[in-house]
Amino acid sequence: MAKENLECSFCGRKKPETNLLIAGLDAHICDRCIEQAHGIVAEESRQSKTDDLSSELVLKKPLEIKQFLDTYVIGQERTKKVLSVAVYNHYKRLLQPSSKEDEIEIQKSNIVMVGQTGTGKTLMAKTIARMLKVPLAIVDATVLTEAGYVGEDVESILTRLLQAADYNLEKAERGIVFIDELDKIARKSDNPSITRDVSGEGVQQGLLKLLEGTVVNVPPKGGRKHPDQKFIEVNTENILFIAGGAFDGIERIITRRLNMQAIGYSASKREDIMDAENVLQYIIPKDLKEFGLIPEIIGRLPVLTHMNPLDRKTLRSILTEPKNAIIKQYEKLFAMDGISFKITEQALDFIVDKAIEYKLGARGLRSLCEAVFTDAMFELPSTEETEFKVTKPYAEEKLSFETINKLKAVS
Ligand code: ADP
Repeated sequence: MAKENLECSFCGRKKPETNLLIAGLDAHICDRCIEQAHGIVAEESRQSKTDDLSSELVLKKPLEIKQFLDTYVIGQERTKKVLSVAVYNHYKRLLQPSSKEDEIEIQKSNIVMVGQTGTGKTLMAKTIARMLKVPLAIVDATVLTEAGYVGEDVESILTRLLQAADYNLEKAERGIVFIDELDKIARKSDNPSITRDVSGEGVQQGLLKLLEGTVVNVPPKGGRKHPDQKFIEVNTENILFIAGGAFDGIERIITRRLNMQAIGYSASKREDIMDAENVLQYIIPKDLKEFGLIPEIIGRLPVLTHMNPLDRKTLRSILTEPKNAIIKQYEKLFAMDGISFKITEQALDFIVDKAIEYKLGARGLRSLCEAVFTDAMFELPSTEETEFKVTKPYAEEKLSFETINKLKAVS
């Protein structure tokens, strides 16, 4: 066949009418048909990825979610349960077909976790995101300010989520946002109208719309440094928001409320119903309001739960039990140099004792281990050693008074 008589086997265009005609075994395809076909392939694969995501999500029942959390987070049983149900319901809501006739609309199960720093709030959010294979953005509420003031606008939260999702909008719109230090944007005074509260109530108002579900114009590169960038529209309706905070002093609010309620009971009875060591477990939404969160925010974070303080037993378990426990990580590091790493029970207990004695918490465990093992990690790879055994006297020697004081200063 003469060259000019060749034609696209899909659309029939003659070769001169095309920019490019590619030959196959007994057919030809033109550039336009290739482009069209590419569009179809891309759309199909996007669709099947979304379907994959849905089928993955539907498989996780609350019990399975909890079991997954158990492998990473020690203790905090109540919160793990509450979170498992909230996450399950959230994704159930997400998977339900949208039908106008159905009047029952399942509302979002955004979560707020109250508990001291270092008790595992971030770890909990990270673990859930890891299990669901959804992007996670961790943001600190303290950097947020009302639009127009120095600091970051609330929209920056979604910029982070887009980045975590590699700018895949669909993924981002099913992601999780963990807002840390929510307590730091509490209203400072009971009378909000006298002075403008740039970093408190204003930010809470800004957060409101994100929490309830709306379409937000998000600067994909974030910040105000790129004024020319095109905004991306992000729908927050299916984004799960998990907030956390220490809410320092809220125990007093809870205790006061409990004491008021207990009027009428005899004092001894009251002691029976109250565990003074862990008052946070009695927290209710009203306490958050008294602390300085506006009622609308509290309403949009309907799942309220608390973190228990970490006791000795929990700290000891954190060292060795979670899937990526600190000690397991050192074992792996040493194994990479062909060194078998052993640590005695007494040495582990000693490290936990020091974490408690100096109030270093779970975060401190890592720094303490680092202080004990650093010399060995420096020296052993250059030797012929095949074993490194840490005993209590060895740990004692490495954790001198000065070392711990230094750790205390940075924690
Ligand atoms: P928070 O967000 O409450 O301040 P994190 O989740 O950042 O605390 O916890 C700090 C570190 O302490 C984590 O990286 C984790 O290794 C450890 N940790 C804290 N609580 C737990 C827990 N309950 N189970 C396992 N590890 C924990």
